[in-house]
Amino acid sequence: MDWCAAVGAALAREGVSVSGVDAEQRKAGLDRMRAYLPALLPPLRLQQWDVEILDDAPDGDDVSASIHYNDSDWSAVIKLADPFLAGTRELQRLHMAHELMHLYLRGLHIQQKALITAFSTREWQLIDSRFEHEMELTTDSLAYLVAPTLPLPPEA
Ligand SMILES: [Zn+2]
Repeated sequence: MDWCAAVGAALAREGVSVSGVDAEQRKAGLDRMRAYLPALLPPLRLQQWDVEILDDAPDGDDVSASIHYNDSDWSAVIKLADPFLAGTRELQRLHMAHELMHLYLRGLHIQQKALITAFSTREWQLIDSRFEHEMELTTDSLAYLVAPTLPLPPEA
């Protein structure tokens, strides 16, 4: 099991405000994303995955969304932060695509974590953080590529 997180800095750069997302709006936003998720899996050829959106926000202030997957039973859970829910439908589509692209790159991530566990030296910790950064950039590149081919989330 591995966590991957999308950094919310892109949302801040695009001027997305996180204020004004109350509990009711959060619930409505999560329900909207739960209704949207099944429309994303077939065009991304990820129908074999059982993906669920949890109520919890992801860990970390700068994380807008995260995915946690279990390779052994093709299940994954996504957590969405308030900045994500306050974003535009285009940004939400992009970030959902990003999280789901992590499922294609999971093998690399699993091997990375296995290496870090096996060789827990300071040098490997540096490589780990560098690799993590590059993994996010690669995931983002794939998300930018596929997002425009995907349907938008339903309107609020
Ligand atoms: Zn990510």
